[in-house]
Amino acid sequence: MTTTFNTKKSEEIFADALKLMPGGVSSPVRAFKSVGGQPIVFDRVQGPYIWDVDDNQYIDYVGTWGPAICGHAHPEVIAALKAALEKGTSFGAPCVLENVLAEMVIDAVPCIEMVRFVNSGTEACMSVLRLMRAFTGREKIIKFEGCYHGHADMFLVKAGSGVATLGLPDSPGVPKSTTTSTLTAPYNDLEAVKALFQQNPDEIAGVILEPVVGNSGFIPPDAGFLEGLRLLTQEYGALLMFDEVMTGFRIAYGGAQEKFGVTPDLTTLGKVIGGGLPVGAYGGRADIMSMVAPAGPMYQAGTLSGNPLAMTAGIKTLELLNKPGTYDYLEKITKKLSDGLLAIAKETGHEACGGSISAMFGFFFTAGPVHNYEDAKKSDLNKFGRFHRGMLERGIYLAPSQFEAGFTSLAHTEEHIDRTLEIARQVMAQL
Ligand SMILES: *Cc1c(COP(=O)(O)O)cnc(C)c1O
Repeated sequence: MTTTFNTKKSEEIFADALKLMPGGVSSPVRAFKSVGGQPIVFDRVQGPYIWDVDDNQYIDYVGTWGPAICGHAHPEVIAALKAALEKGTSFGAPCVLENVLAEMVIDAVPCIEMVRFVNSGTEACMSVLRLMRAFTGREKIIKFEGCYHGHADMFLVKAGSGVATLGLPDSPGVPKSTTTSTLTAPYNDLEAVKALFQQNPDEIAGVILEPVVGNSGFIPPDAGFLEGLRLLTQEYGALLMFDEVMTGFRIAYGGAQEKFGVTPDLTTLGKVIGGGLPVGAYGGRADIMSMVAPAGPMYQAGTLSGNPLAMTAGIKTLELLNKPGTYDYLEKITKKLSDGLLAIAKETGHEACGGSISAMFGFFFTAGPVHNYEDAKKSDLNKFGRFHRGMLERGIYLAPSQFEAGFTSLAHTEEHIDRTLEIARQVMAQL
């Protein structure tokens, strides 16, 4: 392929990074291992765009893995952050901004009556698991194959994208004792969950899942799946926990639980609620949350938790999202992109399947349908790698793995989608 795509500076910087940091990155998927080639090194972001250090411009469908739902570096978020910065970066003491964001989260997310802020989705998930165990006095949990809940030991079992991308079924260094109480079932398989409850009566603290999967590609729940989990957990005295770190404030203002009308006991949040700064949160029923220290005995703490900068970015981002029409707009442009990609794949003779919900979409090079991680793995990864490269060289930045969802933002217009589809047509025709 003849191309004027020049990434000389990116290559130099990444070569240096490889000597300084494991794999040259601070988080594995960024290294492009599963699509081949080298990662581009970013210089700046704005709206729907990224510029790399060689000054190539891209339309971005990763959005820093979700937080940039209002568009990168939104002027109102940046202005609010500048004002907050003048007052200092961290207090390590109560600040009124925590109340403001907490109130917004409690108003928005159906199951959340009280909330605790932390610094990442990983931290939120490991803390909520401790809470589920503390509240029920039970140790076992059920998670689903291909769902990712951060990198804490007990979740590194069949954990989706990052781990899948590296071909590691589990990670060395995780003690067997921490994962023997992690039971797994295929996503969308209620019978498998029922069987686990029957085999482990009175031992299961709860079920943890991505209510719409984004970490083994985009996989929506089958009709009745979330409702079925709600009933089963109630029947066996276990808790239901939706990990909405990705879906929260993305597929609806109130997340998947609003969209699907199924209310879990507990929820984790992250990504969007930090507006691009490091934030996570867990919350839920007040009787359960009252067990968290210092109100109750379950210990969990954080030096930088609830810091004023992160709270400010989150508050401003939610303000921008909580306006009439926001999610209709996101739904419309994302569906246009998703439908367009599938139509082009068909025209150019490629087997493909996929879909979208609001500002989240996915696309697999397999005829489908994809109901779980095993189905997702039938995708033609080599073809995806070549597709990814072709799009990148023509200015479209997609997640560098077949096992990741894609994200749009309020800054993406119909014109950006049209341009993206035009380029996808060129690339698919040559695959
Ligand atoms: C990203 C993600 C996490 C982990 O969040 P970090 O902030 O990267 O630690 C957990 N669960 C889900 C569903 C995620 O998408």
